[in-house]
Amino acid sequence: MTSTLITGANKGLGRETARRLLADGHEVWLAARNPQRGEATAGELGGRFVQLDVTDEASVTAAAEVVAAESGALDVLINNAGIGGGFRPLAETTPEDVRRVFETNVFGIVRVTRAFLPLLERSSNPVIVNVSSGMGSVAVTTDPGRFESTLIGLAYPASKTALNMITSQYAKAYPRMRINAVDPGYTATELNGHRGTKTVQEGAEVIVRMARLDASGPTGAFLDSEGSVPW
Ligand code: NAP
Repeated sequence: MTSTLITGANKGLGRETARRLLADGHEVWLAARNPQRGEATAGELGGRFVQLDVTDEASVTAAAEVVAAESGALDVLINNAGIGGGFRPLAETTPEDVRRVFETNVFGIVRVTRAFLPLLERSSNPVIVNVSSGMGSVAVTTDPGRFESTLIGLAYPASKTALNMITSQYAKAYPRMRINAVDPGYTATELNGHRGTKTVQEGAEVIVRMARLDASGPTGAFLDSEGSVPW
């Protein structure tokens, strides 16, 4: 059985991805920082809960130990947990504002990936999906035809740009693994006060598709529901 762990799985895109992969027959670890929220969602969907706060080294290490003890290996890691951090005017944005978003969206992903790499290396078909954003693409955010070009902010867009490079570097270092970044598109979740124009079913589609890759699939790519996203 394919063993899959999703960070931030208690709501939004993570929850919908968990629902879809459980329907596919995956063993899904719903990782959440809050035990009440995580256990409730895992119970509703029929997945397994593990406590994991991406900003907390001890919790990430403990989660990897739980998955190692119970599943033995991990086939699919979905780095989904993320925060928006608010889009303050640039003149008011402090280094602390940027650092706070990077703690979750960038350093959190490095922490989780590092902790789970040994378990992924035990898989015959290891896959990592990093949930990025069109907001992390310099090309998309400077294209006047794209909605993303109308939003100006430092922390969130820069965090997703960093995540894109991190994805590319991991993909080069681990050629046996399929490691890709995805843009779900502007999706109605708590991250944007449910203003997104896509449903979670539509947004999760590319996450699920990349989670299902086998060894013939792409790696080191940045994809949305239409295909390649320019970096
Ligand atoms: P969401 O509904 O706000 O869900 C975010 C999830 O991340 C929640 O489960 C949240 O847990 C979790 N999380 C936040 N900080 C965490 C931490 N330190 N440790 C563990 N979990 C943490 O937002 P979403 O839209 O589904 O976001 C999922 C991903 O999609 C994010 O990476 C986001 O950047 C990306 N994305 C979203 C959109 C969009 O339009 N919605 C577009 C492009 C990319 P709590 O419930 O405990 O807060």
